Amino acid sequence: MTSTEAVTIVGAGPVGLIAALGLAKSGITVSVLERAKGIVASPRAITYHWSCLEGLSELGLLDEALQLGFSKQDYSYIEFATGERIDFSLDVLEGLTKFPYNLHLGQHRLAEIALRRLAAYPNVTVHWGVNVTDIEQDAEGVSVAATGPDGELKFRSGWLIGADGAGSAVRGRLGLEFEGMTWPKRFVAANLHLDFAKYGFARTTFLIDSTYGAIIVKLDQNDLWRCTYSEDLNLPEDGIPERISEFLKVIVPAAKDYTLHAYSPYRMHQRAATTFRVGRVLLAGDAAHATNPSGGYGLVGGLFDVYVLYKALAAVVQGSAGDEVLDKYAEDRRRVFLEIVSPAASENKRMIFDTSDPAQRAADMARIRSLAADKATLVERLMLTSRMSSEPPVPLKKASQRETI
Ligand SMILES: Cc1cc2nc3c(=O)[nH]c(=O)nc-3n(C[C@H](O)[C@H](O)[C@H](O)COP(=O)(O)OP(=O)(O)OC[C@H]3O[C@@H](n4cnc5c(N)ncnc54)[C@H](O)[C@@H]3O)c2cc1C
Repeated sequence: MTSTEAVTIVGAGPVGLIAALGLAKSGITVSVLERAKGIVASPRAITYHWSCLEGLSELGLLDEALQLGFSKQDYSYIEFATGERIDFSLDVLEGLTKFPYNLHLGQHRLAEIALRRLAAYPNVTVHWGVNVTDIEQDAEGVSVAATGPDGELKFRSGWLIGADGAGSAVRGRLGLEFEGMTWPKRFVAANLHLDFAKYGFARTTFLIDSTYGAIIVKLDQNDLWRCTYSEDLNLPEDGIPERISEFLKVIVPAAKDYTLHAYSPYRMHQRAATTFRVGRVLLAGDAAHATNPSGGYGLVGGLFDVYVLYKALAAVVQGSAGDEVLDKYAEDRRRVFLEIVSPAASENKRMIFDTSDPAQRAADMARIRSLAADKATLVERLMLTSRMSSEPPVPLKKASQRETI
């Protein structure tokens, strides 16, 4: 089978599907190629910071996302060793933004909403069970080789977006390095039916400790919660359910009963592709950059990629902008990742999970207390995630609007 589209997107994760939706709304023909048979539902992103909600709203995704998930403002830091608890709220953003709250929703649910919206666009086809194995480009377009349920497949399009996650085959076929480092620990994300609120936890709680460091987050409107903690890489993976139980006995001893809904062991990275554009191929989301998720910045960074990329690519395909807007996309998004997203995420991880230096921990606690005590300090801190966005491209003026000399 061969199809010729304006844009091929590899990967039907949240980044690929939301990019497809942005392009679809602009009238661009799109094929999305996804190796899985449906949306992948492993326990991953849950928190979407206030600053990325306007983009979801612009794409018509926010209302349903808020119905299926929920908005929330409460946060808490707890120093495990002393029990000191410091609370703060996003209500300080009221009056400063239309969206003074964060959204909580499993990333597969967000992807499902985007997929439902795509069904209304005949210019988009999503191909499931299609594993991309090779790409080649020339002056006119990009050719894709893939294997599908019935054998070999070929696709052809003018442009291609690699949104195929941290192990990106697209990035690999471009010969790009994924520069950076991988943290020498295993992290475990456990989804649990355990109402942490009953035991005094805020709906996002950062538990600060080198051994019992954890991020505890409410996942849905029922009693599903996520507890993410770290452990030694050498421990056998098949012992994880027992170790989750041991961990919970220490951090929430009063909770006698819980059900383990799902868990996922994973490694954390700080990595970026050497470039996010090679000719007619663009990288977005985890295919372009991967961060530890301690601050909830991974997919948020990917969404900010999408908000710029679909506008830039639609403008190029429709001839209202030159392809230099794609270079700007690639440069801006890589710089934002290296200068803002990755350092901020590493700092969060250090503060929560790597607290063995008492002087450093005291300084961290003082800084956290100042967030709760001083509104201006908190607002400044919360503005961090708005700096993870980039300006969309400025389309060329139409010939009739250009100034004549
Ligand atoms: C435990 C955990 C918690 C997290 N929490 C947060 C959070 O709260 N907030 C946040 O912003 N981020 C968070 N993240 C990060 C977030 O999960 C990622 O940034 C997000 O998944 C990136 O989305 P994506 O669409 O770029 O890639 P993915 O979600 O990885 O999707 C890539 C898709 O491409 C497909 N694919 C791969 N290779 C091929 C191929 N060769 N051919 C065809 N298809 C292919 C895959 O099957 C997959 O469907 C978390 C991550 C983890 C591990």
